[in-house]
Amino acid sequence: MSDASTPAPHASASIRGLHKSYGPVEVLKGIDLEVAAGEVVCLIGPSGSGKSTLLRCVNLLESPQRGTIEVAGHEVTDPEADLDLARRSVGMVFQQFNLFPHLTVLENCNVAQRKVLKRSRAEASETSRRNLELVGLADKTDRYPDQLSGGQQQRVAIARALSMDPQLMLFDEPTSALDPETVGDVLAVMRSLAERGMTMLVVTHEMAFARDVADRVAFMDGGVVVEEGPAAEVIGAPQQERTQRFLSRVL
Ligand code: ADP
Ligand code: MG
Repeated sequence: MSDASTPAPHASASIRGLHKSYGPVEVLKGIDLEVAAGEVVCLIGPSGSGKSTLLRCVNLLESPQRGTIEVAGHEVTDPEADLDLARRSVGMVFQQFNLFPHLTVLENCNVAQRKVLKRSRAEASETSRRNLELVGLADKTDRYPDQLSGGQQQRVAIARALSMDPQLMLFDEPTSALDPETVGDVLAVMRSLAERGMTMLVVTHEMAFARDVADRVAFMDGGVVVEEGPAAEVIGAPQQERTQRFLSRVL
Protein backbone atom coordinates (compact mmCIF):
# COMPACT_ATOMS: atom_id res chain seq x y z
CA MET A 1 0.00 0.00 0.00
CA SER A 2 2.59 2.58 -0.95
CA ASP A 3 1.64 3.63 -4.45
CA ALA A 4 1.93 7.30 -5.36
CA SER A 5 -1.73 8.02 -4.59
CA THR A 6 -1.39 6.85 -0.99
CA PRO A 7 -1.13 9.98 1.14
CA ALA A 8 1.76 10.44 3.53
CA PRO A 9 1.14 8.63 6.82
CA HIS A 10 1.30 11.86 8.74
CA ALA A 11 -0.65 14.63 7.14
CA SER A 12 -0.54 18.37 7.31
CA ALA A 13 -3.72 20.31 8.03
CA SER A 14 -4.57 23.75 6.82
CA ILE A 15 -7.51 25.81 8.06
CA ARG A 16 -8.29 29.02 6.22
CA GLY A 17 -10.88 31.68 6.89
CA LEU A 18 -13.10 29.34 8.86
CA HIS A 19 -16.46 30.69 10.00
CA LYS A 20 -19.01 28.71 11.97
CA SER A 21 -22.29 30.00 13.36
CA TYR A 22 -25.08 28.40 15.32
CA GLY A 23 -28.13 30.35 14.29
CA PRO A 24 -27.29 34.02 14.79
CA VAL A 25 -24.31 33.24 17.04
CA GLU A 26 -20.96 33.32 15.28
CA VAL A 27 -18.68 30.95 17.18
CA LEU A 28 -15.70 30.85 14.79
CA LYS A 29 -14.96 34.23 13.24
CA GLY A 30 -12.35 33.50 10.61
CA ILE A 31 -9.81 30.99 11.85
CA ASP A 32 -6.51 30.51 10.05
CA LEU A 33 -4.30 27.74 11.38
CA GLU A 34 -1.63 25.55 9.83
CA VAL A 35 -0.37 22.27 11.21
CA ALA A 36 2.58 20.90 9.29
CA ALA A 37 3.08 17.16 8.86
CA GLY A 38 4.54 15.77 12.05
CA GLU A 39 3.89 18.94 13.98
CA VAL A 40 2.14 19.23 17.35
CA VAL A 41 -0.01 22.33 17.78
CA CYS A 42 -1.69 22.99 21.11
CA LEU A 43 -4.82 25.12 21.20
CA ILE A 44 -5.37 26.96 24.44
CA GLY A 45 -7.98 29.47 25.49
CA PRO A 46 -10.87 30.11 27.82
CA SER A 47 -14.04 28.06 27.92
CA GLY A 48 -16.44 29.05 25.16
CA SER A 49 -13.74 30.42 22.85
CA GLY A 50 -14.56 27.90 20.11
CA LYS A 51 -11.79 25.31 20.53
CA SER A 52 -14.07 22.27 20.45
CA THR A 53 -16.09 23.70 17.57
CA LEU A 54 -12.87 24.13 15.59
CA LEU A 55 -11.83 20.50 16.18
CA ARG A 56 -15.34 19.33 15.32
CA CYS A 57 -15.14 21.18 12.02
CA VAL A 58 -11.77 19.57 11.22
CA ASN A 59 -13.27 16.17 12.01
CA LEU A 60 -16.34 16.98 9.88
CA LEU A 61 -18.69 16.56 12.82
CA GLU A 62 -19.76 20.14 12.04
CA SER A 63 -19.86 21.93 8.74
CA PRO A 64 -18.57 25.49 8.63
CA GLN A 65 -20.47 28.20 6.73
CA ARG A 66 -17.32 29.63 5.19
CA GLY A 67 -13.67 28.80 4.81
CA THR A 68 -11.70 25.71 3.90
CA ILE A 69 -10.00 22.84 5.67
CA GLU A 70 -7.37 20.76 3.96
CA VAL A 71 -6.02 17.52 5.37
CA ALA A 72 -3.05 16.00 3.56
CA GLY A 73 -3.64 18.45 0.73
CA HIS A 74 -7.24 17.33 0.20
CA GLU A 75 -9.93 19.91 0.76
CA VAL A 76 -12.32 18.10 3.08
CA THR A 77 -14.74 21.04 3.08
CA ASP A 78 -15.23 20.65 -0.68
CA PRO A 79 -18.89 19.61 -1.17
CA GLU A 80 -17.62 16.96 -3.61
CA ALA A 81 -15.16 15.47 -1.10
CA ASP A 82 -15.48 11.85 -0.02
CA LEU A 83 -16.56 12.49 3.57
CA ASP A 84 -16.05 8.93 4.74
CA LEU A 85 -12.51 8.92 3.46
CA ALA A 86 -11.85 12.33 4.94
CA ARG A 87 -13.27 11.34 8.34
CA ARG A 88 -11.21 8.19 8.37
CA SER A 89 -7.95 10.07 7.97
CA VAL A 90 -8.62 12.05 11.14
CA GLY A 91 -8.63 10.42 14.57
CA MET A 92 -10.26 12.13 17.52
CA VAL A 93 -9.97 11.67 21.26
CA PHE A 94 -12.55 13.38 23.45
CA GLN A 95 -12.71 14.32 27.10
CA GLN A 96 -15.21 11.48 27.58
CA PHE A 97 -13.76 8.25 26.22
CA ASN A 98 -17.10 6.69 25.21
CA LEU A 99 -16.00 3.07 25.27
CA PHE A 100 -18.65 0.38 24.84
CA PRO A 101 -19.13 -1.00 28.39
CA HIS A 102 -20.20 -4.46 27.22
CA LEU A 103 -17.16 -4.97 24.99
CA THR A 104 -13.62 -5.86 26.02
CA VAL A 105 -10.73 -3.49 25.44
CA LEU A 106 -9.70 -5.44 22.33
CA GLU A 107 -13.26 -5.51 20.96
CA ASN A 108 -13.62 -1.78 21.58
CA CYS A 109 -10.56 -1.21 19.40
CA ASN A 110 -11.79 -3.63 16.75
CA VAL A 111 -15.33 -2.31 16.18
CA ALA A 112 -14.68 0.57 13.81
CA GLN A 113 -11.92 -1.27 11.99
CA ARG A 114 -14.34 -4.10 11.25
CA LYS A 115 -17.35 -1.90 10.39
CA VAL A 116 -15.71 1.00 8.58
CA LEU A 117 -12.47 -0.45 7.19
CA LYS A 118 -13.98 -3.94 6.67
CA ARG A 119 -10.98 -5.60 8.26
CA SER A 120 -11.14 -9.26 9.20
CA ARG A 121 -11.25 -10.05 12.90
CA ALA A 122 -7.66 -11.30 12.80
CA GLU A 123 -6.39 -8.24 10.99
CA ALA A 124 -8.28 -5.86 13.26
CA SER A 125 -7.08 -7.67 16.39
CA GLU A 126 -3.48 -7.54 15.24
CA THR A 127 -3.72 -3.78 14.69
CA SER A 128 -5.50 -3.27 18.01
CA ARG A 129 -2.90 -5.29 19.91
CA ARG A 130 -0.09 -3.29 18.34
CA ASN A 131 -1.71 -0.02 19.38
CA LEU A 132 -2.67 -1.26 22.84
CA GLU A 133 0.98 -2.16 23.32
CA LEU A 134 1.94 1.34 22.21
CA VAL A 135 -0.27 2.87 24.92
CA GLY A 136 1.02 0.45 27.55
CA LEU A 137 -2.08 -1.73 27.84
CA ALA A 138 -0.98 -4.96 26.16
CA ASP A 139 -1.96 -6.87 29.30
CA LYS A 140 -5.49 -5.44 29.44
CA THR A 141 -6.94 -6.64 26.13
CA ASP A 142 -9.56 -8.88 27.75
CA ARG A 143 -10.67 -6.44 30.43
CA TYR A 144 -13.90 -4.47 30.34
CA PRO A 145 -13.86 -0.66 30.58
CA ASP A 146 -15.25 -0.57 34.13
CA GLN A 147 -12.28 -2.67 35.28
CA LEU A 148 -9.90 0.12 34.21
CA SER A 149 -9.00 3.51 35.63
CA GLY A 150 -10.06 6.63 33.74
CA GLY A 151 -6.53 7.10 32.46
CA GLN A 152 -6.41 3.52 31.20
CA GLN A 153 -9.77 3.96 29.49
CA GLN A 154 -8.52 7.11 27.81
CA ARG A 155 -5.45 5.21 26.60
CA VAL A 156 -7.80 2.58 25.14
CA ALA A 157 -9.61 5.41 23.36
CA ILE A 158 -6.28 6.58 21.95
CA ALA A 159 -5.42 3.03 20.81
CA ARG A 160 -8.87 2.75 19.24
CA ALA A 161 -8.34 5.97 17.29
CA LEU A 162 -4.84 4.92 16.20
CA SER A 163 -6.16 1.58 14.98
CA MET A 164 -7.95 3.41 12.17
CA ASP A 165 -4.52 4.50 10.86
CA PRO A 166 -5.28 8.22 11.03
CA GLN A 167 -2.98 10.75 9.43
CA LEU A 168 -3.92 13.46 11.88
CA MET A 169 -4.94 13.15 15.52
CA LEU A 170 -7.21 15.62 17.29
CA PHE A 171 -7.41 15.69 21.08
CA ASP A 172 -10.10 17.69 22.88
CA GLU A 173 -9.09 18.11 26.53
CA PRO A 174 -8.17 14.42 26.80
CA THR A 175 -7.11 14.67 30.44
CA SER A 176 -9.75 17.06 31.79
CA ALA A 177 -12.06 14.32 33.08
CA LEU A 178 -9.32 12.23 34.69
CA ASP A 179 -8.23 11.74 38.27
CA PRO A 180 -4.98 13.65 38.71
CA GLU A 181 -2.92 10.50 39.31
CA THR A 182 -3.81 9.07 35.88
CA VAL A 183 -3.20 12.23 33.85
CA GLY A 184 0.54 11.66 33.56
CA ASP A 185 0.24 8.30 31.81
CA VAL A 186 -2.08 9.75 29.17
CA LEU A 187 0.19 12.72 28.57
CA ALA A 188 3.16 10.34 28.29
CA VAL A 189 1.37 8.39 25.57
CA MET A 190 0.60 11.62 23.72
CA ARG A 191 4.21 12.68 24.04
CA SER A 192 5.40 9.37 22.59
CA LEU A 193 2.99 9.76 19.69
CA ALA A 194 4.42 13.21 19.05
CA GLU A 195 7.93 11.77 19.11
CA ARG A 196 6.88 9.18 16.52
CA GLY A 197 5.98 12.02 14.19
CA MET A 198 2.19 12.01 14.43
CA THR A 199 0.54 15.26 13.36
CA MET A 200 -1.46 16.43 16.35
CA LEU A 201 -3.85 19.26 17.15
CA VAL A 202 -4.43 19.24 20.89
CA VAL A 203 -6.84 21.31 22.97
CA THR A 204 -5.46 21.26 26.48
CA HIS A 205 -5.21 23.12 29.74
CA GLU A 206 -1.99 21.28 30.56
CA MET A 207 0.41 24.16 30.07
CA ALA A 208 3.49 22.13 30.97
CA PHE A 209 2.59 19.63 28.23
CA ALA A 210 1.98 22.43 25.74
CA ARG A 211 5.29 24.09 26.60
CA ASP A 212 7.29 20.85 26.44
CA VAL A 213 5.66 18.95 23.59
CA ALA A 214 3.99 21.44 21.26
CA ASP A 215 5.92 22.88 18.37
CA ARG A 216 3.48 25.75 18.29
CA VAL A 217 0.73 27.06 20.52
CA ALA A 218 -2.33 28.97 19.37
CA PHE A 219 -4.34 31.01 21.86
CA MET A 220 -8.03 31.35 20.99
CA ASP A 221 -10.51 33.77 22.47
CA GLY A 222 -13.93 34.82 21.22
CA GLY A 223 -13.76 32.71 18.08
CA VAL A 224 -10.46 34.00 16.76
CA VAL A 225 -6.83 32.98 17.08
CA VAL A 226 -5.49 35.90 19.09
CA GLU A 227 -1.86 34.83 19.09
CA GLU A 228 0.19 31.91 17.86
CA GLY A 229 3.80 30.97 17.70
CA PRO A 230 6.47 28.71 19.17
CA ALA A 231 5.29 27.21 22.46
CA ALA A 232 8.04 28.84 24.48
CA GLU A 233 7.13 32.27 23.14
CA VAL A 234 3.34 32.13 23.44
CA ILE A 235 3.41 30.57 26.90
CA GLY A 236 6.64 32.08 28.17
CA ALA A 237 6.39 35.58 26.72
CA PRO A 238 2.90 36.24 25.31
CA GLN A 239 2.58 39.47 23.33
CA GLN A 240 -1.17 40.01 23.49
CA GLU A 241 -2.89 41.31 26.58
CA ARG A 242 -5.69 38.72 26.32
CA THR A 243 -3.14 35.89 26.21
CA GLN A 244 -1.31 37.32 29.19
CA ARG A 245 -4.53 37.57 31.17
CA PHE A 246 -5.52 33.98 30.35
CA LEU A 247 -2.10 32.58 31.22
CA SER A 248 -1.93 34.47 34.49
CA ARG A 249 -5.11 32.65 35.50
CA VAL A 250 -4.04 29.13 34.49
CA LEU A 251 -0.31 29.01 35.16
P1 ADP B 1 -14.62 25.69 23.90
O1 ADP B 1 -14.36 24.30 23.45
O2 ADP B 1 -13.48 26.63 23.61
O3 ADP B 1 -15.02 25.77 25.34
P2 ADP B 1 -16.94 25.53 22.20
O4 ADP B 1 -16.44 25.35 20.82
O5 ADP B 1 -17.45 24.34 22.90
O6 ADP B 1 -15.83 26.28 23.07
O7 ADP B 1 -18.12 26.61 22.20
C1 ADP B 1 -17.98 27.90 21.67
C2 ADP B 1 -19.32 28.60 21.72
O8 ADP B 1 -20.22 27.96 20.83
C3 ADP B 1 -19.98 28.57 23.08
O9 ADP B 1 -20.56 29.82 23.31
C4 ADP B 1 -21.03 27.50 22.94
O10 ADP B 1 -22.12 27.77 23.78
C5 ADP B 1 -21.40 27.60 21.49
N1 ADP B 1 -21.85 26.30 20.93
C6 ADP B 1 -21.09 25.19 20.82
N2 ADP B 1 -21.80 24.20 20.26
C7 ADP B 1 -23.02 24.68 20.01
C8 ADP B 1 -24.23 24.15 19.43
N3 ADP B 1 -24.27 22.87 18.97
N4 ADP B 1 -25.29 24.96 19.34
C9 ADP B 1 -25.25 26.25 19.77
N5 ADP B 1 -24.16 26.80 20.32
C10 ADP B 1 -23.06 26.06 20.44
MG1 MG C 1 -14.31 22.54 24.51
